[in-house]
Amino acid sequence: MLDLIVRGGQVVTPWGVSDWDVAVEGEKIVAVAARGALTEEAGRVIDATGKIVVPGGIEPHAHISAPIMGHGDLKTAPPGQVSRAALFGGTTTLLDFAIQYPGIDIGQAIQERTSVWQGNSYADYSHHLMLLGEIPANILEQLHEAVEDGFPSIKIFTTNIRPPSTVGEPRMVRMGHLHDLMEQVQRLGALLLVHSEDDDMVQHMYRKLAQEERTEWWNMHLVHSNESEDVSFRRVLRVAEWTGAPVYFVHVSARQGVGAIQEARAKGLPVYGETLHNYCCFNADNYREENGMRYHTYPSIKAEEDRLALWDGIVRGGLNTMATDEYCTSWEIKIAGRTISDVTGGHNGAETRVGITYSEGVAKRGMSLQRFVDVTSANAAKIMGLYPRKGVIAPGSDADIVLIDPSVKKRLAKSDFHISDYSIWEGFDIEGWPATTILRGAVVVENGVFRGRRGGGQFLRRKVDREYTTRPAC
Ligand SMILES: [Zn+2]
Repeated sequence: MLDLIVRGGQVVTPWGVSDWDVAVEGEKIVAVAARGALTEEAGRVIDATGKIVVPGGIEPHAHISAPIMGHGDLKTAPPGQVSRAALFGGTTTLLDFAIQYPGIDIGQAIQERTSVWQGNSYADYSHHLMLLGEIPANILEQLHEAVEDGFPSIKIFTTNIRPPSTVGEPRMVRMGHLHDLMEQVQRLGALLLVHSEDDDMVQHMYRKLAQEERTEWWNMHLVHSNESEDVSFRRVLRVAEWTGAPVYFVHVSARQGVGAIQEARAKGLPVYGETLHNYCCFNADNYREENGMRYHTYPSIKAEEDRLALWDGIVRGGLNTMATDEYCTSWEIKIAGRTISDVTGGHNGAETRVGITYSEGVAKRGMSLQRFVDVTSANAAKIMGLYPRKGVIAPGSDADIVLIDPSVKKRLAKSDFHISDYSIWEGFDIEGWPATTILRGAVVVENGVFRGRRGGGQFLRRKVDREYTTRPAC
């Protein structure tokens, strides 16, 4: 007997979009069959008539229970809160960061994350590694073991992001260390995630705007500028070409960034680009609103031309994933910093990512349903080493299934969100929204009711297929 059949929906698979029925046994999908062809009895049948059936969303970039820059011991929202909200929004897998702070080794960084997540998550999860500042030789050596253990993605920064006086630890990885790290990443078949900005240019602009007394937050895009993204992406890409390392640029924000990625991919380099749904929906003019720093995520929101280029990269190709850079704080903390030096980045975006991408991408821009699945789920699964367990509706894959209701048309209100005390999406008009979420065969959200289980989320070990680390394969 089957445990579950999702019947009557329009199912999105890599092989086409059609009226299929999806059969689930235990935690796995066991069949995708023509309408009515499944004659076996099922423990439960979900009527998906009028709905679009897609694989559970994968959020590749989230900061969960992470120290809030400039706020001492305060942390962003913990796994329980974020994973619950993510499931409401059709995201079933979250990736955050195990940070190797100076003085601890990679094993300790992973242990710290395990203690934060284990038994607390409603959704499935995994961790990237994050390295800060100068990378000692022993840490480079430890990467081998970490990659073997299922942590094949490593994030670094090419900038300290903020002025040195306002951050504790040095983040920036300089070019020499970047080179050595890339060599190691290439050898191990791992993947490098890069927050890529030119630190000289960024720090120069902090000082310049301070001298000119133009430190209001709405000048943030002048500090974290298009030119800085352009220059830095190209330097990083040159080193990637020398070393052969695969690179995934996090939060691409400028049209020049999209262009640099496209050129590298045209040369056959294993290079991928991520953008954020708030970068796609707002521009630097929104900073001018009252409390307009609420839209800010580092590097920065840029001009209208950039916003349109990011959509183009998501809808037509050039960019690979829609992420959030989830960084959930209270409203009080989000608006506490009011100058270019101390604005709090990020927002509580994991819940709205899939719905906003559907509404703005599919409903308003004509993005194909397969492309929608690619940017919200399949590509992240492929690049981060979770495919085909995750990211696809196919026999043998985890039964992470989301039903999108394309008939929902409304203005998002506070009551639509399930985390924090604010959302930058309040007042945003949407068309189509996730209605039902299934995690490994268990219905966790249905008709606005949450049925997930704390601790029901599983840790996912990952391994990136060579296909994705040697050429731009998705
Ligand atoms: Zn981030």
